[in-house]
Amino acid sequence: MKRYSIFSLVRNALSYHENWPKAWRSPDPKPAYDVIIIGGGGHGLATAYYLAKEHGITNVAVLEKSWIGGGNTGRNTTIVRSNYLMPESLALYDHALKLWEDLSQDLNYNVMFSPRGLLHLAHNVHDMQEIGRRGHAINAAGVDSEFVTREQVKAMVPIINLDCRYPVMGGLLQKRGGVARHDAVAWGYARGADARGVDIIQNCAVTGFRMDGGRVQGVETTRGFIAAPRIGVVVAGNSGALAAMAGFRLPIETTPLQAMVSEPLKPIIDCVVMSNTIHAYISQSDKGELVIGGSSDPYNSYAQRGSFDQIEHVVGPIVELYPALSRIRLMRHWAGITDITVDRSPIMSKTPVEGLFINCGWGTGGFKATPGSGHVFAHCLALGDLTPMAAPFTMDRFHTGALIDEGAAAAVAH
Ligand SMILES: Cc1cc2nc3c(=O)[nH]c(=O)nc-3n(C[C@H](O)[C@H](O)[C@H](O)COP(=O)(O)OP(=O)(O)OC[C@H]3O[C@@H](n4cnc5c(N)ncnc54)[C@H](O)[C@@H]3O)c2cc1C
Repeated sequence: MKRYSIFSLVRNALSYHENWPKAWRSPDPKPAYDVIIIGGGGHGLATAYYLAKEHGITNVAVLEKSWIGGGNTGRNTTIVRSNYLMPESLALYDHALKLWEDLSQDLNYNVMFSPRGLLHLAHNVHDMQEIGRRGHAINAAGVDSEFVTREQVKAMVPIINLDCRYPVMGGLLQKRGGVARHDAVAWGYARGADARGVDIIQNCAVTGFRMDGGRVQGVETTRGFIAAPRIGVVVAGNSGALAAMAGFRLPIETTPLQAMVSEPLKPIIDCVVMSNTIHAYISQSDKGELVIGGSSDPYNSYAQRGSFDQIEHVVGPIVELYPALSRIRLMRHWAGITDITVDRSPIMSKTPVEGLFINCGWGTGGFKATPGSGHVFAHCLALGDLTPMAAPFTMDRFHTGALIDEGAAAAVAH
């Protein structure tokens, strides 16, 4: 892999930037691999990267049915934070946040991680109690989080209207939280994995599993059969469909989640502001676009498209909270399909099929977990078993009742 640096930038400027090597290859699939990862989103690519980098397992294929990062990875609103309620989640998401902090250096690829601070607003007594409980739990786990008054909110976000229909009463701030460039995360991991020998195979949909005696032998794909003794399924909103191919059911629902961006503006808001109660959140991208999102669509679907009623549902509260934005034009609007569990926590698990592992259920909030999820899941695939950080997140919890309830920290908040 050619390293990106100021020197390579200058060298390539001399040839008008026409001779940069491709960031990753486009190989044909081999007949067999040691590990196959289904899904070329951030989580799948990160898994492949850490398998190669930290476990020396490089005979790996990532199979992606369309283009890498074209699923939720390229559709999310890029919020990164670790301020969850339960100790299991705090450990996992803070592990991810620590990896974010050095990710650009580690990948030699600028993922534009920007820890600009993330504010959860409280609009009523219940919100104040929720952030109170969660803030203390976060601090008790040694993770950063602080309460801010409504005056401090106003100082941080001068364009906010504190006395709107749901007045702002205070907030919970995670200063290490922020945003990152989502496509760059997929591309950086793809480049790093490819350089270590991983085959990234795009336009290759998995259509079935071949099994023998309860053990997986490989996958049927649109490009033929590919064998592997160990397979990781990391397909976000398509997890239910893949589980059905393997003959088991998952405790998840698949629901669209929409987002939109405005025309670019001069800097107007320099942190991420989320309001769970009114179902709207906002940040400003480095290009100047306001990045706006809200809650999931209220029905199950595999459609990756936006709808006018959701624009109205999200833009209404945004304009109430930030009246100065009422004349801004929206530029793009889209949806992704998210896989949501009943406790709003992910699933990292073995499956009833030996050799087949699944990583899903990140729902509306898995972008922030990308490095941690890939890191932990790679360890599980290398080990052939679950690591202590992954162990609480198996499918068994839906039988045992040991749920990891992140309803408040993850339901509308992403
Ligand atoms: C609008 C929106 C906003 C969001 N905002 C945030 C946010 O601000 N912060 C946050 O933390 N999270 C957010 N999320 C959630 C986050 O995007 C996801 O949890 C995360 O990106 C999941 O990553 P992934 O790599 O598992 O999934 P994906 O990127 O969806 O990757 C899965 C891949 O699997 C592929 N695939 C599916 N079926 C097959 C098959 N049969 N064969 C081969 N490949 C297959 C798909 O094409 C896809 O590329 C948001 C999601 C959406 C939709």
